[in-house]
Parts: sequence; structure tokens; C-alpha cells
Amino acid sequence: MLCLPVLQAQSGKTENLIIVTLDGMRWQEVFKGIDPVLTDDTLFNRDSKGLREKFWADNVEERRKKLFPFIWEVVSKEGQLYGNRQFSNHVDNANPYWFSYPGYNEIFTGYPDTAVNSNDKIWNKNTNVLEYINKQKGYQQKVAAFSTWDVFPYILNEPRSGVYVNADVDTIPFNTPQLQVLNDMQFLAPKPVGVRPDVITYMAAREYLKTYKPKVLYIAFDETDDFAHAGLYDQYIGSAHAEDAMIRDIWNTVQGLPQYRNKTTLLITVDHGRGDIVKANWCHHGTRIEDAHEIWLAVMGPDTKALGELKTAGQLYQMQIAATLAKLLGFTFTAEHPVADPIKSVYSK
Ligand SMILES: [Zn+2]
Repeated sequence: MLCLPVLQAQSGKTENLIIVTLDGMRWQEVFKGIDPVLTDDTLFNRDSKGLREKFWADNVEERRKKLFPFIWEVVSKEGQLYGNRQFSNHVDNANPYWFSYPGYNEIFTGYPDTAVNSNDKIWNKNTNVLEYINKQKGYQQKVAAFSTWDVFPYILNEPRSGVYVNADVDTIPFNTPQLQVLNDMQFLAPKPVGVRPDVITYMAAREYLKTYKPKVLYIAFDETDDFAHAGLYDQYIGSAHAEDAMIRDIWNTVQGLPQYRNKTTLLITVDHGRGDIVKANWCHHGTRIEDAHEIWLAVMGPDTKALGELKTAGQLYQMQIAATLAKLLGFTFTAEHPVADPIKSVYSK
């Protein structure tokens, strides 16, 4: 009898990825909505009453939906949400630092490298999954990242990786009128957090997508972290709510374009958590904040089973995201460093 080798056919439907990060956005608000103690604390809000009017509901499911309507109306029905620790569903940093560069390094390299321990503009030595995808057949020059924070060209090592990274006020060198307007806007806009507003990062990413049709688009928002450090809870919440709307907008945009419709997976996550056990520590993160390693993950797409909010005990790590992104496109991410295993439940329908 002939023993034929079993060919591992790629059965996935995902051809494109949209990845979004909300810097330092706590799982507590994602799963429980606005925090009543922080909302009523006049130290952290100029307008506690207004914040309550907009986002409060006694019922936690209503409350979280007011803050993140897209996540709770759409992703929770069609996709998966990991990280609600009230059900012992855990997602954590594997790196021991719990701040931005080590977190983004972990997300994109799959390797919680302990040598990556600074937010300085240092070219990342580790190969990342966007770089890996950008080298695969059919994906060359089809991977782009738009970020508010100006350290991303270093984190993703733009010169080496070949991934197009548009960060803070990098000129948008495009010839459509829409992109030209955005280019002017980002230089003229006020910068309350020191870098361009997230909405400009978003609009540039969206117009780039419409014009250049990247297969992998990463959007890195930043305002939530900046407002949290400044102790401005109402502003932190306002940015989170606006980013949810931008995620809905990019999803509607891709679902309206034949190249992307029903062939795109959306993944939303965060670089690190922040404090909550000690309420005032919501402003802070890093090793000294005992619970700042607690994070979350949301995924939706044609290869992702509609499990909704995971209400079973489980443990995922941020380092698993890189290989998961590759797997969704049918690739096995390998690099010169160790790469953590992908999350099977995300890509096995
Ligand atoms: Zn921070």
C-alpha cells in the first residue's frame, strides 16, 4: 500500500491583518467599563459628572458597552476576547518590565528579551513578525505601521525590516489630496501629549490603506497611556472611547473593499497593564506596580471561532501574539531568537 505524505494545506481564509494597540489600556475598563472609584475622584477628573453621564450604567455589561461599543457589540459576537480575570482568564506580559518598548518588542518578536529594557530610541536587534511577513512571497512592500509614538521606527527597526513605519510627524509622502491634507494637519495640530493626536495617526493609516492596499496594517495608538500618566481619567476614557470608534471605522472600511472583505483578521491588544489593586496606581505601570503585567487581547476574523468573551480559566502570554499573526496568514514565524507558540484557539475554526 502506498503511503502518501499528507500535505498540510493552508485552509485559512485570512489574507490581510489589521493590528491595533491601545497603549497602556487597562483590562479593567475593557471588561468592566469605567471604574466608579476613579470616576468620582476629583483628583483625576475635571468633570466626574459628565464622565458618569456618558459612560456609567449599573449593569457591568451595559457599562463596558458604553465605553467600547464596537468591542462589545461586534467583536464579542463575532470574535474572541481574552483577559477577563474575573473568570480567571489571564493574559500577561512575559517580559519582566511592564512598560512600552519591552511590551511592543514582545508582541512583535514573540520573544520577551530581557535585554530590551528601555524606552530609548535603540534599534531593535530582534527580528519581528512584520519584518518576517514583509519578506514572504506576495507580502513584500505590503506591510505598514502607523504610530503616534515616535519610537516605533526603532522598535520595528524600519531600516533593516523594510516595513514602512509612519510615526508622529513623519511626512506622509503621498500624492492623494486626502493624505496631503493630513500631512498639513499633523504639523499644524496642537499636541497636548507631545506627539501627533491619535486621530491623525488613524486617518493617515486609513487613507494609506485605501490608496496603497497593504496586506498587513498596524495602527499604534498612544493617548490612553499619556493621559493616564498625567492622571486625567476622563481624558484617558475619552481617548479609549474614540479609539474604539476608529477601530469600528477601519473594520467597516476593510469590509467595504473587495481585497479585504471576509479575508481580514483584526487583532487588538495592549503593550502593558497598569495598577488597580492600589487605586491611585491606575496612573502607573512598570515593575514596581504589582498588577501592571495584566493585559488583554481581542481577535476577530474569518479563521477565528466566535467564542466571544472567554469565561473559562486560561493563561495566554503577549509573546504568543507574533506567531499567531504569522499563523493566521499560513506562515510559521521563526527568527534568530526563540519564538513563543501561537494561540491555537485564535486560528483554528
Ligand atoms: Zn506609560
